[in-house]
Amino acid sequence: SYTLGPKIANWDQQREQWQNQNPGFPSKIAGGKPKILLVTGSPPNPCDNPIGDHYLLKATKNKIDYCRLHGIEIVYNMAHLDRELAGYWAKLPLLRRLMLSHPEAEWIWWMDSDALFTDMDFEIPMSKYTGYNLVIHGYPDLLFEQHSWIALNTGSFLFRNCQWSLDLLDAWAPMGPKGPVRDEAGRLLTANLKGRPAFEADDQSALIYLLLSQQDKWGNKVYVENSYYLHGFWAGLVDKYEEMMEKHHPGLGDERWPFVTHFVGCKPCGSYGDYPVERCISSMERAFNFADNQVLRIYGFAHRRLSSSKIRRIRNETVTPLDIKKRINVQDRIISR
Ligand code: UDP
Ligand code: MN
Repeated sequence: SYTLGPKIANWDQQREQWQNQNPGFPSKIAGGKPKILLVTGSPPNPCDNPIGDHYLLKATKNKIDYCRLHGIEIVYNMAHLDRELAGYWAKLPLLRRLMLSHPEAEWIWWMDSDALFTDMDFEIPMSKYTGYNLVIHGYPDLLFEQHSWIALNTGSFLFRNCQWSLDLLDAWAPMGPKGPVRDEAGRLLTANLKGRPAFEADDQSALIYLLLSQQDKWGNKVYVENSYYLHGFWAGLVDKYEEMMEKHHPGLGDERWPFVTHFVGCKPCGSYGDYPVERCISSMERAFNFADNQVLRIYGFAHRRLSSSKIRRIRNETVTPLDIKKRINVQDRIISR
C-alpha cells in the first residue's frame, strides 16, 4: 500500500546526533523558545478567480508579518511533492520533508493559505506542550463522544519534529492517494463521522478517524487546544472586530481577540465554495485590515476603516523616533499583562 517514503525508525537518534554535530544550528531561539518553522502554500498554478491570487498575497504578507514579529521562520510551498497526494493532502509529504530537511526545527507549524493571523501579539504557549507532539484546535467532546467531522481543524496545527510525528504521518497518509483509494476512504469516513457530507477522503476527516480508531496509540501525545483560536471559524468572528477593538486589545487570542481567523469553505482561489464569493472577499479584507492595523501601528498608521485599504496617520512625525518606540513597547507590555 501507499507510503510517504522509506520507513525511518530512529529519527530521534539521527536528529540528536545531527544536533550535536551542528551546534551552530540550535533548536532554540533567543530567549530559550523552541525553533518553529511555519509552513503554508498554495497550488502551483494561478487561481481560477484572479481575485484569489490577490488574497493569497495578502494572506502571505500577513504570515510574514506575524513570523517576523515572533522569530518564526516561514516556508511557502507551491509544488506538489507527491502526485498522489495533491490538494489538501499535499501538506503530509511536505511536513515529512521539512522535518527531515530541518532537523534544527523543533516544531513544524502547518497553516492553510486561507487562515490569517488576527492577533499579532499573541504567542502560542509552547511550554504547555512539553509532553505533546501534536497541537491542534478542536473539542474533545465533539471528537470522542460525537465523532464529529469538525471535531478538529487541520487548517492550523503543530507537529514536533520527532519519530512519533513521522509515525503519525505514515498512519495518516494511506487514505490520501487520489482516485479509487481516496474515493473509497471517503465513503468509510462519511459512514463513520457525524455530519460529514459524501465526498472523497480529506485530510481532516482522516486524522479524526485515525485518532478515534487508534486512540490508545496516539491519544496521549495529542493536545486538543481550545483555550485560544489556533483556528477560528471566520463566520462567527469577522463581524465582531469593531466591538473587539472597542472592548479588548491584542494579545488575548481567544473570542475577545482571535489569534487566527480561518476562511473555511470560502475557496477564493478555486471555482466553488460554500459561501457567496463577495461575502468571503469582503470578510477576508476585514480580517486582513484588522490584523494589518496591529502592524501599521508600529509605523504610526492605521486603516481608515476595516473595509478599506486606505490608511491614515495616527501620530505625528518626530525628530526623536526612538522615544515613540519605547512608549509603544511599554504600552504593549502593560496591555498584554
Ligand atoms: N494547498 C496547497 N496546494 C494545493 C492545494 C492546497 O498547498 O494544491 C494548501 C492551501 O494552503 C490550502 C490548504 O492546502 O489552504 C487546504 O486545502 P483546501 O483545498 O482544503 O483549501 P481551503 O479549504 O483551505 O481553501
Ligand atoms: Mn482552509
